[in-house]
Amino acid sequence: MGFAYDDQNIFAKILRGEIPNDTVYESVHALAFRDITPQAPTHVLVIPKGPYVSMDHFTQEASDAEIAGFMRAIGEVCKLEGVSDDGFRAISNAGVNGVQEVPHLHVHILGGRPLGRMLARET
Ligand code: AMP
Repeated sequence: MGFAYDDQNIFAKILRGEIPNDTVYESVHALAFRDITPQAPTHVLVIPKGPYVSMDHFTQEASDAEIAGFMRAIGEVCKLEGVSDDGFRAISNAGVNGVQEVPHLHVHILGGRPLGRMLARET
């Protein structure tokens, strides 16, 4: 099964400069910007600049330089946002079970308050 990338997704439009974003950090391989609906005092989305749907797509098909650049960008965002001392959570939702809304790989960096357990327990 291949990965099909939809270049009309909202993060592709952000990368093309078609809609604005609140940029935190940018490099050759990555862009980081504030989530439009923040769920914590720090809520930044880090995305690769290449056309990848999800973490599995990216890590199967991206170049080593893209992967290194993307992971370094996460480190830079943590430093810029000052979340390393008190801690943070990095989340990447994928597909239907992951409840992914935007089909361009993104890692949520959440911090600035205690975030609770990783997953809600099923009742
Ligand atoms: P996910 O459910 O992991 O796909 O999360 C998508 C995230 O993108 C949500 O947290 C949204 O609030 C966020 N989002 C959607 N549109 C924008 C936008 N234009 N700028 C910034 N964040 C956005």
